[in-house]
Amino acid sequence: MMLAIAALSIATTRAVIAADHGPTVTAAQALQALLDGNRRFVVGKLEHPNQTPEVRADVAKGQHPFASVLACSDSRTPPEIIFDRGLGDIFTVRVAGNVADKVVIESLDYSVKHLGVRAVMVLGHRRCGAVIAAVAGHEEEGDVGPMLSELRPAVAASKGMAGDPVENAVRENVILVIKNLAASAELSAMVKSGELKIVGGVYDLDTGMIEMLKD
Ligand SMILES: [Zn+2]
Repeated sequence: MMLAIAALSIATTRAVIAADHGPTVTAAQALQALLDGNRRFVVGKLEHPNQTPEVRADVAKGQHPFASVLACSDSRTPPEIIFDRGLGDIFTVRVAGNVADKVVIESLDYSVKHLGVRAVMVLGHRRCGAVIAAVAGHEEEGDVGPMLSELRPAVAASKGMAGDPVENAVRENVILVIKNLAASAELSAMVKSGELKIVGGVYDLDTGMIEMLKD
């Protein structure tokens, strides 16, 4: 069954969602719900949906999140807050630099195939400390550890671009992670059929706004 997008912000619909297995919204509705929540956050008109004891009891029976977000571990970028969502809404993966190693990809893959997620957002952010470290250490030889190693392709791809090297690498990293996710044949087929959206964004620490990179 499809729910109107407005219903996503109403806690009472949670019971309907919890009782209904599989996807509860379309890919477009799932993405719109994220963007609507971010708009509320930016202007300070938060609704704090799905954070009541009743919703907690409902989602304890099973989770059917409508979206997944891969974000940085940075304490200033928690998806549930910057998208103004609550329990059972967003399947969240957070790791420094929002890089996608095999475990991260497997987690996101699981959320789409088994939990009914219909929009996946890869979310970088401005002035990311992990990316700053990767850009600074780009010329270093040898083993730099798994996180900086994951960021190296983005730093290399953005080298020589006009503008700020860190901001450019942040964007390239989001784009490369999306490409890695799309390497899954099943997810790629779902994107082609319109069942799934995989999008990228960059969060602005100062304004709270998300600049969409790809839709
Ligand atoms: Zn970061």
